[in-house]
Amino acid sequence: MNWHQFLEEWQNEAEAQGFQVDVLLEKESYPILACTKGSPDLPSIYLSSGIHGDEPSGPQALLGLLKEGFFDARARWMICPILNPTGLERGKRENSEGIDLNRDYLMCQAPEVCAHIKWLEAQPRPVLFLSLHEDWESSGFYYYEINTGAPAPSYEEVLAATGPFFPPEPEEEIDDHPVTKPGWIFHPDSPDIPEGWPEAIYLSRQGCPLSLTFETPSSTALNNRISCHQAVVRCSVRKQLGL
Ligand SMILES: [Zn+2]
Repeated sequence: MNWHQFLEEWQNEAEAQGFQVDVLLEKESYPILACTKGSPDLPSIYLSSGIHGDEPSGPQALLGLLKEGFFDARARWMICPILNPTGLERGKRENSEGIDLNRDYLMCQAPEVCAHIKWLEAQPRPVLFLSLHEDWESSGFYYYEINTGAPAPSYEEVLAATGPFFPPEPEEEIDDHPVTKPGWIFHPDSPDIPEGWPEAIYLSRQGCPLSLTFETPSSTALNNRISCHQAVVRCSVRKQLGL
């Protein structure tokens, strides 16, 4: 995958659809893009992907949704398609300095995260945060939910959306978290590592009431991972907007 080309394609398509595209930072010749569209009066839905460089399906899922016109006038959209381009280039989880960006939202050691936080702080508070990830150790789909009282897709709805692509992850404990039901981790509003905040904890502490982190199994076909992410994003957005 040529990620320079991807970002160029993303930017052209987003601008053609009326997105404002901001460059948060240039990182080793890659622009880190943040895109917004829609009136601040509409509910804000924030999507992010590509924070772990060995998880390419999230950015590609979002590009597919962008191209099909999914990000329409129903909501105010905030999208960061690739937060870690130097990781993606190398196929590594961390950025080129070896920092796991998704553990840096309290300490803010990486320039990517500092620039991202600054941008997030200038945005209206999203009502829904969706982040697209992958897991190298899982065989099925699973998701984390942090919910401080928002309407959310039910477990059954999430499984109905993702079931055509993957079964729910069968393990009873995933990444040291006991599952609520197979493939579902209802996560408290507090970080696993006190100083290692992921993006979702940061968003929650900023007042975002619902955060869903989707994990597809990296060892399976890329197209399936992409389609699964797209299906669960559609399901979550539909639910959020009461459609
Ligand atoms: Zn990840």
